[in-house]
Amino acid sequence: MPAMKDDCIFCKIAKKEIETAVVYEDDEVIAFKDINPQAPVHFLFIPKKHIETLNDISAEDAVLVGRMVAKMRDAAREQGIAEDGYRVVMNCNRNAGQEVFHLHAHLLGGRKFSWPPG
Ligand code: 5GP
Ligand code: ZN
Repeated sequence: MPAMKDDCIFCKIAKKEIETAVVYEDDEVIAFKDINPQAPVHFLFIPKKHIETLNDISAEDAVLVGRMVAKMRDAAREQGIAEDGYRVVMNCNRNAGQEVFHLHAHLLGGRKFSWPPG
């Protein structure tokens, strides 16, 4: 298993210590339904490795993050939202409202979103 942090809720989800609706998993990435969905499709994709924020990704993590984004593209296709469109969001630190300090990307779809974000 990659590096984990004991008090991190998303590390616990990655270790299956918390009951979660998992929608995708491989050796390095796990995806699950957001507990408070903001759209008909709202999945969270995380690296199993504990990385706190987007500020903390290293050059070697870039491959992992790139693979994770490609898996989000695959999930969007599988959910039937790829053609209409969808949004991928990574909130970093307080100005973006990051609540969980384990890197995650939101896959949101199934409705129209406004821009700019609030
Ligand atoms: P952030 O604002 O950090 O980008 O978003 C964190 C997201 O994680 C929120 O959308 C929140 O609903 C979701 N979340 C927080 N705790 C849990 C949990 O225990 N299980 C699941 N499935 N989602 C969670
Ligand atoms: Zn973690």
